[in-house]
Amino acid sequence: MRCHMCFEALVLVISVTASVSWSPYIQPMTMTNNRAAWIEGPSAQCEITPEPALLPWRLILLGAPGVGKGTQAELLHRRLRACHLSTGDVFRAAGARAECDQSPAMKEALGYMRRGELVPDSTVWAMVRERKGCLQCAGGFILDGFPRTLAQAESLKELMDSEGLKLTAVVNYELPFSEIVVRMGGRRTCDKCKTVYHVTERPPRQEGKCDRCDGKLFQREDDRPESIKVRLEAYERSTAPLIEFYRNLGLLVEIRATGMPDDIFEHTFTQLEARRVREVAQRVLVAHADRCE
Ligand code: ADP
Repeated sequence: MRCHMCFEALVLVISVTASVSWSPYIQPMTMTNNRAAWIEGPSAQCEITPEPALLPWRLILLGAPGVGKGTQAELLHRRLRACHLSTGDVFRAAGARAECDQSPAMKEALGYMRRGELVPDSTVWAMVRERKGCLQCAGGFILDGFPRTLAQAESLKELMDSEGLKLTAVVNYELPFSEIVVRMGGRRTCDKCKTVYHVTERPPRQEGKCDRCDGKLFQREDDRPESIKVRLEAYERSTAPLIEFYRNLGLLVEIRATGMPDDIFEHTFTQLEARRVREVAQRVLVAHADRCE
C-alpha cells in the first residue's frame, strides 16, 4: 500500500516538474508593461495588468554596477513576464522631471546618485515601501538595484514575511572589476524605453538610436570614469555582504557574467528553471509523505 502511494507520488512529481517546464509559466511577452506604478509611484497605473501567474517569479538580481543586471533583468522580464523593478530607473525618471516637481528628498538622492554614491537607506526604503503594491503584483517581480545594503535586505525580508510573499531566488552575477570598467564605459541607454545597449557588445542596429522605439541613446552621468570608481567601492563595502546573507537563506544562484548577454541569460534561465523544478518536486513529495503516514 505504502509503495503504491510512493509510486503515485513519483508519477505526480514527474508530471508536475514537466508542467513547470512548459510554457504556461514562461510565455514570451507580447507587450511590455510601462511599469508606471513603479516608476512614477502608487498613484499611477500600469498600462498592462499582468495576468496572475500560478507560481509568480519573485527574483532579486545582485552584482556589481556594470555587471549587466539591467540587461539580464530585461531578458528575464520578457521570458518570465515578471515586472522589472529597478530603483536606479526610479531615480533617473525623477531626475528627468522639472526641478519644481522634485521633492527635497529626491533632490538630495539625485546628488548622491550623480557622485556614484549610495542614496541613504531611509530615502530608498521610503521609496520602495511606498511602492509595495509592485511586490504584491500577481505577475511577480525582478528587483534590480535593490536591496543594496544589509539594512535594505532586512527591511525587505520583514515586509515580505509580513505580507506572506516568498522570494523564488537571488541571482548573483560575477565579473572581474577590470571587465566591469570596460562595460560601463561603453554602456548606452535609450532615453525613452530605457533599453540598455553597449557600443561593441550589444550595439543598436543604427548608431545612437534605439532598435525598439527609435529613442535617442545616451551615456548615464554615473557611467563616467570619476563616478565608476566610487560606485565600485560602494559595492565592495555595502552590497557584496548581501551574497552571504542570501546564501545563508538558501536562495543564492551564482552566475558567471562573462560572454554574450543572450548566453548569460540562457544560463540564468536554465538554473532558475532547474531550481523551480526541484522546489515543486520537493513540495509534492513532502505533501505525499504526510499523506502516507
Ligand atoms: P548600477 O548600474 O550602478 O547598478 P542603478 O541603475 O541600479 O546602477 O542605480 C544608479 C544609482 O542610483 C546608484 O549608483 C545609487 O546612487 C542609486 N541607487 C539605486 N538603487 C539604490 C539602492 N538600493 N540604495 C542606494 N542607492 C541606490
